[in-house]
Amino acid sequence: MIKRKGLLLVVSGPSGAGKGTICKEIITRNKDIKLSVSATTRKPRDGEIHGVNYFFLSKEEFQKMVDNNEFFEYAKIYDNYYGTPKSAIMESLENGQDVILEIEMQGAKQVKEVYPEGVFIFVLPPSLKELKSRIVGRGTETLEEIDKRFSCAFEEIKKISDYNYFIINKEVSKSADELQEIISAEKNKVTRYKDNIIDKFKEELEKC
Ligand code: 5GP
Repeated sequence: MIKRKGLLLVVSGPSGAGKGTICKEIITRNKDIKLSVSATTRKPRDGEIHGVNYFFLSKEEFQKMVDNNEFFEYAKIYDNYYGTPKSAIMESLENGQDVILEIEMQGAKQVKEVYPEGVFIFVLPPSLKELKSRIVGRGTETLEEIDKRFSCAFEEIKKISDYNYFIINKEVSKSADELQEIISAEKNKVTRYKDNIIDKFKEELEKC
Protein backbone atom coordinates (compact mmCIF):
# COMPACT_ATOMS: atom_id res chain seq x y z
CA MET A 1 0.00 0.00 0.00
CA ILE A 2 1.27 3.45 -0.91
CA LYS A 3 0.19 5.87 1.79
CA ARG A 4 -1.23 9.26 0.89
CA LYS A 5 -3.09 12.05 2.63
CA GLY A 6 -6.82 12.35 1.95
CA LEU A 7 -8.00 14.69 -0.81
CA LEU A 8 -9.72 17.88 0.25
CA LEU A 9 -12.33 18.53 -2.45
CA VAL A 10 -13.86 21.99 -2.41
CA VAL A 11 -17.01 22.29 -4.52
CA SER A 12 -18.52 25.74 -5.17
CA GLY A 13 -20.92 27.29 -7.64
CA PRO A 14 -23.92 29.61 -7.71
CA SER A 15 -26.99 28.70 -5.70
CA GLY A 16 -29.12 26.41 -7.88
CA ALA A 17 -26.20 25.12 -10.01
CA GLY A 18 -26.70 21.72 -8.38
CA LYS A 19 -23.46 21.30 -6.44
CA GLY A 20 -25.27 19.80 -3.43
CA THR A 21 -26.95 17.12 -5.54
CA ILE A 22 -23.68 16.23 -7.28
CA CYS A 23 -21.88 15.95 -3.92
CA LYS A 24 -24.65 13.71 -2.54
CA GLU A 25 -24.35 11.45 -5.60
CA ILE A 26 -20.57 11.21 -5.11
CA ILE A 27 -21.02 10.30 -1.44
CA THR A 28 -23.52 7.59 -2.41
CA ARG A 29 -21.07 6.17 -4.94
CA ASN A 30 -18.02 6.41 -2.64
CA LYS A 31 -18.83 5.34 0.89
CA ASP A 32 -15.29 6.24 1.96
CA ILE A 33 -15.57 9.96 1.04
CA LYS A 34 -16.80 12.15 3.86
CA LEU A 35 -19.05 15.19 3.32
CA SER A 36 -18.23 17.88 5.85
CA VAL A 37 -21.27 19.14 7.81
CA SER A 38 -21.18 22.93 8.07
CA ALA A 39 -22.51 25.16 10.82
CA THR A 40 -25.00 27.89 9.90
CA THR A 41 -27.19 30.54 11.48
CA ARG A 42 -29.80 30.03 8.74
CA LYS A 43 -33.11 28.50 9.83
CA PRO A 44 -33.62 24.83 8.88
CA ARG A 45 -35.74 24.16 5.80
CA ASP A 46 -38.47 21.49 5.90
CA GLY A 47 -36.86 18.08 6.28
CA GLU A 48 -33.40 19.38 7.19
CA ILE A 49 -31.88 17.69 10.23
CA HIS A 50 -29.44 19.18 12.76
CA GLY A 51 -26.10 17.40 12.48
CA VAL A 52 -26.96 15.88 9.09
CA ASN A 53 -27.58 18.81 6.71
CA TYR A 54 -26.06 21.48 8.95
CA PHE A 55 -25.39 22.26 12.58
CA PHE A 56 -28.07 24.93 13.03
CA LEU A 57 -26.74 27.49 15.49
CA SER A 58 -27.84 30.82 16.95
CA LYS A 59 -25.75 33.89 16.03
CA GLU A 60 -24.27 33.80 19.56
CA GLU A 61 -23.27 30.12 19.28
CA PHE A 62 -21.71 30.75 15.86
CA GLN A 63 -19.79 33.78 17.16
CA LYS A 64 -18.49 31.71 20.07
CA MET A 65 -17.03 29.19 17.62
CA VAL A 66 -15.45 32.06 15.65
CA ASP A 67 -13.91 33.45 18.86
CA ASN A 68 -12.57 30.02 19.79
CA ASN A 69 -10.97 29.66 16.33
CA GLU A 70 -13.02 26.53 15.66
CA PHE A 71 -13.65 27.22 11.95
CA PHE A 72 -11.49 26.16 9.02
CA GLU A 73 -13.27 28.96 7.11
CA TYR A 74 -16.48 30.91 7.50
CA ALA A 75 -18.43 33.55 5.59
CA LYS A 76 -21.56 35.66 5.69
CA ILE A 77 -23.83 34.73 2.78
CA TYR A 78 -27.28 36.15 2.05
CA ASP A 79 -27.55 37.57 5.63
CA ASN A 80 -26.59 34.30 7.35
CA TYR A 81 -23.30 32.86 8.56
CA TYR A 82 -21.91 29.56 7.30
CA GLY A 83 -18.71 27.85 8.43
CA THR A 84 -16.74 24.62 8.21
CA PRO A 85 -15.83 23.29 11.65
CA LYS A 86 -12.13 22.41 11.85
CA SER A 87 -12.75 19.37 14.02
CA ALA A 88 -12.41 16.09 12.15
CA ILE A 89 -11.31 17.60 8.79
CA MET A 90 -7.56 17.73 9.35
CA GLU A 91 -7.62 14.44 11.23
CA SER A 92 -9.55 12.74 8.40
CA LEU A 93 -7.12 14.07 5.78
CA GLU A 94 -4.10 12.92 7.80
CA ASN A 95 -5.69 9.46 8.06
CA GLY A 96 -6.01 9.27 4.27
CA GLN A 97 -9.76 9.94 4.17
CA ASP A 98 -11.08 12.16 1.37
CA VAL A 99 -13.32 15.03 2.45
CA ILE A 100 -15.74 17.20 0.41
CA LEU A 101 -16.57 20.76 1.38
CA GLU A 102 -19.58 22.16 -0.43
CA ILE A 103 -19.04 25.85 0.22
CA GLU A 104 -19.28 29.21 -1.54
CA MET A 105 -16.41 31.25 -2.97
CA GLN A 106 -15.39 33.48 -0.03
CA GLY A 107 -14.91 30.35 2.06
CA ALA A 108 -13.16 28.46 -0.75
CA LYS A 109 -10.67 31.34 -1.03
CA GLN A 110 -9.85 31.09 2.68
CA VAL A 111 -9.38 27.32 2.32
CA LYS A 112 -7.03 27.82 -0.66
CA GLU A 113 -4.86 30.17 1.42
CA VAL A 114 -4.38 27.65 4.23
CA TYR A 115 -4.64 24.44 2.19
CA PRO A 116 -3.48 25.05 -1.42
CA GLU A 117 -3.19 21.31 -2.12
CA GLY A 118 -7.01 21.11 -2.02
CA VAL A 119 -8.86 20.41 -5.27
CA PHE A 120 -11.10 23.34 -6.18
CA ILE A 121 -14.09 22.55 -8.41
CA PHE A 122 -16.66 25.01 -9.73
CA VAL A 123 -20.13 23.83 -10.74
CA LEU A 124 -21.80 25.93 -13.45
CA PRO A 125 -25.43 25.85 -14.60
CA PRO A 126 -25.99 25.25 -18.35
CA SER A 127 -27.40 28.82 -18.56
CA LEU A 128 -28.58 31.65 -16.30
CA LYS A 129 -32.16 31.06 -17.48
CA GLU A 130 -31.95 27.45 -16.34
CA LEU A 131 -30.39 28.58 -13.06
CA LYS A 132 -33.30 30.88 -12.30
CA SER A 133 -35.91 28.25 -13.06
CA ARG A 134 -34.08 25.76 -10.78
CA ILE A 135 -33.99 28.22 -7.87
CA VAL A 136 -37.67 29.08 -8.34
CA GLY A 137 -38.59 25.41 -8.91
CA ARG A 138 -37.12 24.08 -5.67
CA GLY A 139 -39.50 26.38 -3.78
CA THR A 140 -37.34 26.70 -0.67
CA GLU A 141 -36.73 30.47 -0.80
CA THR A 142 -38.94 33.54 -0.63
CA LEU A 143 -39.16 35.76 -3.74
CA GLU A 144 -36.75 38.23 -2.14
CA GLU A 145 -34.24 35.46 -1.40
CA ILE A 146 -34.58 34.11 -4.95
CA ASP A 147 -33.74 37.55 -6.37
CA LYS A 148 -30.78 37.92 -4.04
CA ARG A 149 -29.37 34.50 -4.95
CA PHE A 150 -29.92 34.97 -8.67
CA SER A 151 -28.40 38.44 -8.78
CA CYS A 152 -25.24 37.11 -7.04
CA ALA A 153 -24.78 34.34 -9.62
CA PHE A 154 -22.83 36.28 -12.27
CA GLU A 155 -20.58 37.89 -9.62
CA GLU A 156 -19.81 34.38 -8.38
CA ILE A 157 -19.11 33.00 -11.86
CA LYS A 158 -16.55 35.80 -12.36
CA LYS A 159 -14.45 34.18 -9.60
CA ILE A 160 -14.03 30.92 -11.53
CA SER A 161 -10.32 31.50 -12.14
CA ASP A 162 -9.66 30.70 -8.45
CA TYR A 163 -10.65 27.09 -9.23
CA ASN A 164 -8.82 24.11 -10.77
CA TYR A 165 -11.76 22.47 -12.56
CA PHE A 166 -15.28 23.27 -13.73
CA ILE A 167 -18.28 21.08 -14.37
CA ILE A 168 -21.31 22.22 -16.38
CA ASN A 169 -24.21 20.57 -14.61
CA LYS A 170 -26.76 19.57 -17.23
CA GLU A 171 -27.48 16.13 -15.80
CA VAL A 172 -26.53 15.08 -12.28
CA SER A 173 -25.30 11.58 -13.10
CA LYS A 174 -23.02 12.87 -15.91
CA SER A 175 -21.70 15.65 -13.68
CA ALA A 176 -21.01 13.10 -10.93
CA ASP A 177 -19.11 11.00 -13.51
CA GLU A 178 -16.97 14.04 -14.32
CA LEU A 179 -16.31 14.72 -10.66
CA GLN A 180 -15.40 11.06 -10.22
CA GLU A 181 -12.84 11.37 -13.04
CA ILE A 182 -11.35 14.48 -11.42
CA ILE A 183 -11.05 12.61 -8.11
CA SER A 184 -9.37 9.62 -9.78
CA ALA A 185 -6.86 11.80 -11.63
CA GLU A 186 -6.05 13.80 -8.49
CA LYS A 187 -5.51 10.59 -6.51
CA ASN A 188 -2.85 9.54 -9.01
CA LYS A 189 -0.88 12.77 -8.91
CA VAL A 190 2.74 11.94 -8.14
CA THR A 191 3.14 15.07 -5.98
CA ARG A 192 0.56 13.74 -3.50
CA TYR A 193 2.76 10.80 -2.60
CA LYS A 194 6.04 12.61 -2.09
CA ASP A 195 8.63 9.87 -1.43
CA ASN A 196 6.13 7.16 -0.48
CA ILE A 197 6.32 5.42 -3.86
CA ILE A 198 10.12 5.23 -3.81
CA ASP A 199 10.08 4.09 -0.15
CA LYS A 200 7.62 1.30 -0.91
CA PHE A 201 9.76 -0.10 -3.75
CA LYS A 202 12.97 0.38 -1.79
CA GLU A 203 11.49 -1.72 1.01
CA GLU A 204 10.49 -4.39 -1.51
CA LEU A 205 13.90 -4.34 -3.14
CA GLU A 206 15.55 -4.94 0.20
CA LYS A 207 13.39 -8.03 0.67
CA CYS A 208 14.06 -9.40 -2.84
P1 5GP B 1 -27.96 27.04 1.53
O1 5GP B 1 -28.55 28.09 2.41
O2 5GP B 1 -28.62 26.98 0.19
O3 5GP B 1 -27.90 25.69 2.22
O4 5GP B 1 -26.43 27.45 1.26
C1 5GP B 1 -26.11 28.72 0.78
C2 5GP B 1 -24.68 28.75 0.33
O5 5GP B 1 -23.80 28.54 1.44
C3 5GP B 1 -24.32 27.66 -0.68
O6 5GP B 1 -23.57 28.25 -1.73
C4 5GP B 1 -23.46 26.70 0.11
O7 5GP B 1 -22.50 26.03 -0.68
C5 5GP B 1 -22.78 27.66 1.07
N1 5GP B 1 -22.23 27.00 2.26
C6 5GP B 1 -22.73 25.93 2.93
N2 5GP B 1 -21.94 25.63 3.96
C7 5GP B 1 -20.91 26.49 3.94
C8 5GP B 1 -19.74 26.67 4.75
O8 5GP B 1 -19.46 25.96 5.69
N3 5GP B 1 -18.92 27.70 4.41
C9 5GP B 1 -19.15 28.52 3.36
N4 5GP B 1 -18.26 29.47 3.11
N5 5GP B 1 -20.23 28.37 2.57
C10 5GP B 1 -21.10 27.38 2.86
